[in-house]
Amino acid sequence: MNYRSSALTAAVALALGLASSAHAARQMDDEVAADVRVQAVDRAMMNIQQNAKAMHAGMNDQFQASDVILDDNGAEHVRMKRSYRGLPVIGGDFVVHSDNTGKLASVSQTLTHEISIDTHASLSKSEAVLNAGVDFGTAFDGVSDAKLVVYARGKAPQLAYEVVYTGFMPDQTPTEMHYFVDANNGRILDKWDGIHTKGKPGGSGGGTTCNTNTTGSGHTLTLGNVNINTAGCTDGSYQMKDLSRGGGYTTDLNNRTNGSGTIFSDADNTWGNNSTSDRATVGADAHYGVSETWDYYQNIHGRSGIANDGQGALSRVHYGRNYVNAFWSDSCFCMTFGDGSGSYLPLVALDVAGHEMSHGVTSRTANLTYSGESGGLNEATSDIFGTMVEFYSNNSSDSPDYLIGEAIYASNPSDSKALRWMYQPNKDGSSPNCYASNLGSLDVHYSSGVANHFFYLLAEGSGSKTFGPNTVTSPTCNGSSITGIGRSKAEAIWYRALTVYMTSNTNYAGARAATISAANDLYGSSTASSVAAAWSAVSVN
Ligand SMILES: [Zn+2]
Repeated sequence: MNYRSSALTAAVALALGLASSAHAARQMDDEVAADVRVQAVDRAMMNIQQNAKAMHAGMNDQFQASDVILDDNGAEHVRMKRSYRGLPVIGGDFVVHSDNTGKLASVSQTLTHEISIDTHASLSKSEAVLNAGVDFGTAFDGVSDAKLVVYARGKAPQLAYEVVYTGFMPDQTPTEMHYFVDANNGRILDKWDGIHTKGKPGGSGGGTTCNTNTTGSGHTLTLGNVNINTAGCTDGSYQMKDLSRGGGYTTDLNNRTNGSGTIFSDADNTWGNNSTSDRATVGADAHYGVSETWDYYQNIHGRSGIANDGQGALSRVHYGRNYVNAFWSDSCFCMTFGDGSGSYLPLVALDVAGHEMSHGVTSRTANLTYSGESGGLNEATSDIFGTMVEFYSNNSSDSPDYLIGEAIYASNPSDSKALRWMYQPNKDGSSPNCYASNLGSLDVHYSSGVANHFFYLLAEGSGSKTFGPNTVTSPTCNGSSITGIGRSKAEAIWYRALTVYMTSNTNYAGARAATISAANDLYGSSTASSVAAAWSAVSVN
C-alpha cells in the first residue's frame, strides 16, 4: 500500500498550526501539544495499515490527516482525507477513533466499499467545462480548469470532473459553484456553492503600526453601546482590529462586491452612533458579534477561533447596494454583511454573526457538503450555534430565543417576524417540522429545519417555554412528550458530534448516530436515550 506517512508527520505539525509562537512558555506547550498530535496521527496511520478493511482502504488509496481531537480519557480521534491514485475522493473522508495505545475503537465514514475504478476519462476536460456551463449560465466571471476527482457521495464511486464557476447572482450574492460532471457520460452528478449564506427572507495601512490592544466603545445598531476590542496605533489613532482574539478585523467594503475593503479607523476609539448615518455603526455590530462568537467557542467548547489555530478572521460590512443577506466564504476565510433594504436592517445581528462564523467552524471540522441532507445539517449547525451565541451573550437589547434573524427587521413588534423558527420550522412556510425521505431535495435553508427542531426539543423539550416576548411550545411528529436536557448539554453534544463523528457526507441518519455517540461519551446512556427520543420526535429513526 502507498502510505505517505513519513512526509505526512512533518506536514501535519504545520497544518495543525501549532509550530510557532513568540511567547516562549506558550511555544513549549505548543511543542508538547504538537508532539502528542503527531503521535496520534502516526497511530491512526498504523491503524489504517493494520485494519485497512475497516476504512475500506485499498492499494491505491492515500491518506492525509486534517484534524486531531484528544479526549481527557486518552481517546483519540484523527480526521483523514482520502485520495485514490492521486485524485481527491469527494465523500471519502473518515475519522479514526482509537485509544492512546492505538487500539482501534471505530471508524466514522460514509464510504461503504473499497474504491476500484478506472481513472481514465472518456469525456474531455473542455466537454466537462461546457456541460457545467450550460447549467451555470452565461453570467460567470471565472471558470476553473476541469480537475479529475473520485465522486463518492453516491451509491458507487465514480470518476468525475470538478469544475468551479464563479460569478454573482441577481441579488448580488457572490457564487462559487462546484460542479461534479461524470467523466464518462457528461452528466452532472452533483453541485454545490462554496458561498454559505444566511438565507434570504422572503488590512492595515501606511507606515503606522497598530499593535496595542485597547478597549473602544461600539455604538451599535442592534445592541446599544458595547465594549469592543480595538488596536491602538503609533500615530494615536485606532483600528477595528481585535488583538485579543487572533487579530480579527472589520472593514468597510464601501458598497463594492469584491476586495478586502478598508479597515475601520477612528481618532477617539468611539465607533458609530447607533444609527446607519455613521458607517462605523454596523462595523461595531459585526466586530462585537464576531468577538462574542469567538468567546462562545473558546469558553464553552475550548476552541480557539474558527480553525482552532488562534487566528482571527476578516469581517466585511457594507457589501453591495441594498443587499439583504450575509455570507461565509471558505476561499477568503471571511464573513460578509449586507446593508439590508427597505424593511430590512443591515444584516449584522448577533445570531447572524454567530451563524456565519459557525459556517467557518463547520468547514474546518466535519466539512458537511453544502448539498442534500449534509447541506441541511451544515445550515442547522450555523443556526444552532448562532442561537447558542445569543444565549451566551444574553444581551438585554436582544433577548435570547430560538428565532433566526428576528433582529434584521426594521419593525418587529413582539418578535413576530423571523427567517426561521427552530421550535416549529414550518412557521416559515417552507421548512418541514418532520423528516421525510425527500428532505435532501430542498434548499439547505429548509432541510435544516428538522435538525433545528431536533435541537430545540433536545435542549428545551416539547412543553411550554417563554423566550423574550413569546411563549412557545414545540410540536412532535410522533405525539411524544419530550423533556429537555438543557442547552449546555445539548450544545456540547452537537459540537462533539460535529467535530468528532460527522464527515462531509453525513446525512440525517448519520447525525442521529453521531449525536448519540457524542451523548454517550459525554454524559452516558441515559442522556443518549434522550437524544434518540428527540430524533424520533422529528421522525429520524
Ligand atoms: Zn448559512
